[in-house]
Amino acid sequence: APAPPPARHLFSDAAEVEALRGNLLAWYDRCKRDLPWRALAATEMDADRRGYAVWVSEIMLQQTQVATVIDYYNRWMQKWPTLQALAQASLEEVNELWAGLGYYSRGKRLQEAARKVVSELAGRMPRTAEDLQKLLPGVGRYTAGAIASISYGQATGVVDGNVIRVLCRLRCIGADSSSPAVIDQLWDMANVLVDSSRPGDFNQALMELGATVCVPKAPLCGKCPVKQHCQAWRRKLFGKPSPVPDVEDCGVGDCPLCPPATEPWDSSLGVTNFPRKAAKKPPRAMRTATCVLERRGCHGAPEYLIVQRPSSGLLAGLWEFPSLPLAQDLQEEKEREELADHLQAWMGQPVAAKGLQFIGEVIHIFSHIHQTYVVYSLHLDGDVTLDPALSPSRWVVEDEFHASAVSTAMKKV
Ligand code: SF4
Repeated sequence: APAPPPARHLFSDAAEVEALRGNLLAWYDRCKRDLPWRALAATEMDADRRGYAVWVSEIMLQQTQVATVIDYYNRWMQKWPTLQALAQASLEEVNELWAGLGYYSRGKRLQEAARKVVSELAGRMPRTAEDLQKLLPGVGRYTAGAIASISYGQATGVVDGNVIRVLCRLRCIGADSSSPAVIDQLWDMANVLVDSSRPGDFNQALMELGATVCVPKAPLCGKCPVKQHCQAWRRKLFGKPSPVPDVEDCGVGDCPLCPPATEPWDSSLGVTNFPRKAAKKPPRAMRTATCVLERRGCHGAPEYLIVQRPSSGLLAGLWEFPSLPLAQDLQEEKEREELADHLQAWMGQPVAAKGLQFIGEVIHIFSHIHQTYVVYSLHLDGDVTLDPALSPSRWVVEDEFHASAVSTAMKKV
């Protein structure tokens, strides 16, 4: 078995843990942001409705900024205030409301899970983190801990990106923060720290601290309510970690939580020495030709053809202008020909490559893909009969396009 990490990386002093909890919760009570899901969770007496309200917010907040989520959250809760209402929605409605929020499989899985709670669990949300994670699709360890602690008062910790940053700084953890050894240690810490009388508030306070004070680039250490417990801050002030009696010093031997010997403390970085992550893989480059097909509608307004993407994979089930992934390094003429052939299959009539007007390029960054859309347009004079054997498709006017389940990338196009 690996040797346990040195004590200075842990929270092993009960009095210190108690003081840290008190300072953090007092700060949270004074400074927490007013957020709609907090208001709902605080006033909702029905446990299932409370769990649902927190669950929706946690899923939306994965990968998305609070400021963006608020409007989506309010519209979602207005449209589907209960699990039962969401279970009856169509995937198309879910995608329409989710359009622009990104990572579309989140909405789909939320709805699948709501259906499962209604049909298999008699409408009753699981009450513990373990059951939430086991029984609900799309609910991972973090989301389960957040729902269980905030909605049902279970004394269980949470570890998200904000908590990783705060804990790594509090305890000078400089080993790769995405490595299983560090992640396991952080979960253990979060479970030790969580306040059993106010677990939901404590977890939110830790995340709030990471989001508003212990921020990635320029943390506000001077205003931090837990600075006296922070090893990184002490190290910045005094040039070394606080002395902890009875522990072996890190830096000798292979401490699993210290920065690697090849990347020691850099005093110009201060507390932002922590956390550290292994370098990310660069995003994959992709090129896609896309064509805005336009016709005059019966009332004279222009209409545009949109088609539905497959029900799995990137942007599953969303609508887009007819598009075709391209090989890298194709000549422009060849790109145009391939797109013309693709459109021909849609419309069942010849499309001349020369008739496609090049409009420009749109770049959109997905988490792991650097996507370039090469945009063309084509105006149609006569009517077109679309092949019903192909993916679903429809003509929409501009307003309908914006109200449809289309991605931000397509709106840019
Ligand atoms: Fe973060 Fe600074 Fe507070 Fe430490 S003192 S927890 S680094 S804000």
